Amino acid sequence: MVESCIFCQIIRGEKPADFLYQGEAVVAFKDIRPNAPVHVLVVPRKHIRSVNDLEEADRIIVGEMIFRAGEIAKEQGISGSGYKLVYNVERGGGQFVFHLHLHLLGGW
Ligand code: 5GP
Ligand code: ZN
Repeated sequence: MVESCIFCQIIRGEKPADFLYQGEAVVAFKDIRPNAPVHVLVVPRKHIRSVNDLEEADRIIVGEMIFRAGEIAKEQGISGSGYKLVYNVERGGGQFVFHLHLHLLGGW
């Protein structure tokens, strides 16, 4: 699973991505098929399938994901105009990549 996971491959540097942030627990890179002028994915280094699979100890990671999304929004100059933060959960929720990620969408 972790071997074939596309986001794990990006995090390991085996697949290229346009990184905006690379931290200890979390990275952020541009979505390859953007749905907004600014579309960034905030992704934990730890392979977690979805929000359904979060454990108690992962709460700090989720906090870091949302904090980092806010910082990137400021850097991208979209914090004033506003943006969306979206977690798609499982197929019915629109999730296609089963490695936890937070969509940052804005710049309209
Ligand atoms: P989901 O629908 O799972 O919430 O979102 C997955 C997102 O990952 C999609 O918006 C899709 O465009 C993006 N994505 C899928 N494969 C890649 C990739 O190889 N590189 C990048 N940068 N984004 C990807
Ligand atoms: Zn993964």
